[in-house]
Amino acid sequence: MIVPMDLYSLVQRKGYLSPEMAIGWKIGTYVAEYFDDLSDVGVAAVSDNDAVLALLHLIQGNGYPGRIVVPKSARPWDFLFYHLTTGTQLSFTLIRKRTELPQKIRELEAELCEHNHDELERYQASLDFLIKSILREPVTSFSLIRQSRCRRLHIQNEEGHLIHCHHCGSLIPPDRAWDVEGDICCLSCAGLEPVWGIYH
Ligand SMILES: [Zn+2]
Repeated sequence: MIVPMDLYSLVQRKGYLSPEMAIGWKIGTYVAEYFDDLSDVGVAAVSDNDAVLALLHLIQGNGYPGRIVVPKSARPWDFLFYHLTTGTQLSFTLIRKRTELPQKIRELEAELCEHNHDELERYQASLDFLIKSILREPVTSFSLIRQSRCRRLHIQNEEGHLIHCHHCGSLIPPDRAWDVEGDICCLSCAGLEPVWGIYH
C-alpha cells in the first residue's frame, strides 16, 4: 500500500495504520489546505482515537504546539475546525458505511486468531481495502462537510443590559454574544467549544 510520506513517519512510530489514522490524516491535510495552514485553527474531535493522533502529528509536524479538544458530551459532528482569523467553522460528519468495516467482517473480530488463517486473511484484506479507499478518495467521499461563519459581537456592555440568544433564549451580555450567519447567539449555540471563546 502506498502511504503518503508524512503519514508514513507516524505509521512507523506506532507500528500500524488504522482506518481512523487515515481519516484523521486526510481530514487534517484537507483543512490545512483550506486554511493555508493549521497554525490558527482550533481542533475538536468527538472520539479520542487514532484520528486525533494523526491530527496531532500533522499539527506538530508543522511546528505548532497542537491541542485538540475532545468534548465529554455529544456533538453534532465528528470533527470541528475553527479558524480564529476568519471565524470560519468547518465540521465533518463521517459517513459510517464508508469509514467502517462491513458488519459481516466486524463480526469476525471476536474469532480472529493466528490459527484461523482464512478468516484472518479475509479480515486483513477488508481492512486494507478500507484504508486504501480512505487514502485514495477525496474527503467528500467519506464525510459531510459543513461550513459556517461566526464572529464575536463588539457591542459596548451597558450596565445590566443583556440580550437574548436567538436559539436557546438565554440572556447574555452583548460582549459574550456571537453572530453566526446573521443570527445572534451564545457561545454554545454558535457551535464553538467553550475553550475557543477565550481566544477572542
Ligand atoms: Zn444559546
